[in-house]
Amino acid sequence: MKILVINSGSSSLKYQLIDMETESVVAKGLCERIGIANSNFIYKARGVVVEQQIDMPNHNVAVKLVLDKLMDKEVGVISSMKEIDGVGHRVVASGEAFKEPTLVTEQAMVLMEEIKDLAPLHNPAAIVGVNACLAQMPETPMVLVFDTGFHFTMPDHAYMYAVDYNHYEKYKIRRYGAHGTSHQFVAQECAKHLGKDIKDLKIITCHLGNGSSISAVDGGVCIDTSMGFTPLAGVPMGTRSGDIDYAAAEYIAKKEGMDVSQMLTYLNKKSGMLGVSGVSSDFRDLGKAAQEGNYRAKLALEMFCYACKKYIGSYTAALNGVDAIVFTAGVGENDEYVRANTLKNMDFFGIKLDQHKNDTCPRGTIAEIQADDSKVKIIVIPTNEELAIARETKRVAKLV
Ligand code: ADP
Repeated sequence: MKILVINSGSSSLKYQLIDMETESVVAKGLCERIGIANSNFIYKARGVVVEQQIDMPNHNVAVKLVLDKLMDKEVGVISSMKEIDGVGHRVVASGEAFKEPTLVTEQAMVLMEEIKDLAPLHNPAAIVGVNACLAQMPETPMVLVFDTGFHFTMPDHAYMYAVDYNHYEKYKIRRYGAHGTSHQFVAQECAKHLGKDIKDLKIITCHLGNGSSISAVDGGVCIDTSMGFTPLAGVPMGTRSGDIDYAAAEYIAKKEGMDVSQMLTYLNKKSGMLGVSGVSSDFRDLGKAAQEGNYRAKLALEMFCYACKKYIGSYTAALNGVDAIVFTAGVGENDEYVRANTLKNMDFFGIKLDQHKNDTCPRGTIAEIQADDSKVKIIVIPTNEELAIARETKRVAKLV
């Protein structure tokens, strides 16, 4: 059984064809600059990489190109479209309209239209992606998998904001979280790795990348997460401020003559690691600059680690203990400095890192990095959101 996973951006489309028997990638690639001059098409399969500059005026053309390439006589991996059993579409925001992965139907797409301004850069692109796939494969079952989905098990006291309750009822203003597919995937992988039933585990999952979020997972169920109504909240990130006192934002806006939307651009694009360091949003650049003695780069990294530590501490309280802390995504999987500084001086909680295991942690595989006498497991787990979407697609579309 093969499932195609589609991640549509406003001018891009990432795809992976996954063989569900082996859960391995058969082919993958990227369509860049859709609707813009110099569109670029990338396709990788069986060790072959094809990169072509082809005009892609819209997502329909991009999807057609992907399918043609998958069926290509020379570099293709399937002989007919019928070999694609299902398509999973990544969707960023769900509001309260969708609480779990949902089969694409006319009714579901009407709801998708209704909630598209919840993530104005991302959700409209997902709609375009779904329609482009439907145009090429009208008979193939398709599933919408939401970044917010895993977090719908949060109790009301965790997802509500302390504002006028009417605004929750009227506008559904609340915490939704993000990266849910990744948090769910690594929590499940963690249980599998430990050989335990996820129902018996308390796990804190740290998805640390350009965007970062931390979740508390109790018995396989999310009970809290650091991102909020949008992915701006929580720990500071590459270019996002994370949690901030809104009165401080208003003060800056007044002094700098910014309106609300300019302020949000400032908080989303010019803050976080980039804003504090003045160097970069990329953790590799920050690490290098900090080593060379750049005070602001070092400060940015320390602020990031301290914010992560505070979330881990508060989620340990929310969970009434923790069995495993999982690090994943670009920074979580690769940055030993961030892991070490986030978890330092947490032995009160039984959390103790092994410096050597952390420093020599192999890339691209699951690795335990806690000290022998640590009560809590500390595990680095590569995330795989595409595989998680494919698994959900298989489950929801009842593909066998
Ligand atoms: P996103 O999916 O949110 O764009 P990723 O999960 O790909 O983000 O993470 C990107 C971040 O991971 C970048 O800030 C990058 O610096 C960081 N990163 C990638 N590789 C390394 C590494 N070897 N050491 C430190 N940071 C790394």
